[in-house]
Amino acid sequence: MIPTEAWILERLEYYHDMMEISMPLSVFFHEKDWLGQSFAQTDTHREKIACGDILGLNRMEGLAMLINLDQPKEFISKDVLENTIIHETIHSKYPDLGHGGTFNYYVREVRAGIFPPRKRNILVEFKDWLIA
Ligand SMILES: [Zn+2]
Repeated sequence: MIPTEAWILERLEYYHDMMEISMPLSVFFHEKDWLGQSFAQTDTHREKIACGDILGLNRMEGLAMLINLDQPKEFISKDVLENTIIHETIHSKYPDLGHGGTFNYYVREVRAGIFPPRKRNILVEFKDWLIA
């Protein structure tokens, strides 16, 4: 069963509360609604969205968020959406943090119900440094 918009909003609220940040002003669930917004007109993700490659997006430091329900039914699960919701909420909490080891670590910590994230193991930091 495909999760409802209400379920997504409830999970978004849960994680925004956990990270002590305000909810987005607008949450979009469909690509055409997102692409219709003025901020999306110059979006570098337009092509990716058209290819069905985008699960979620975050703009204006979390004021606008897309949690994309226009994905193949067999691909959309609560698990995938929960990860997307956490991912996009971490972008709102840490707008300057790019994707990578630390970002993924935060996703795992939040997923495990831990916030703020614990201090990372020094070996993990070193491995990140090696691959960065
Ligand atoms: Zn991201």
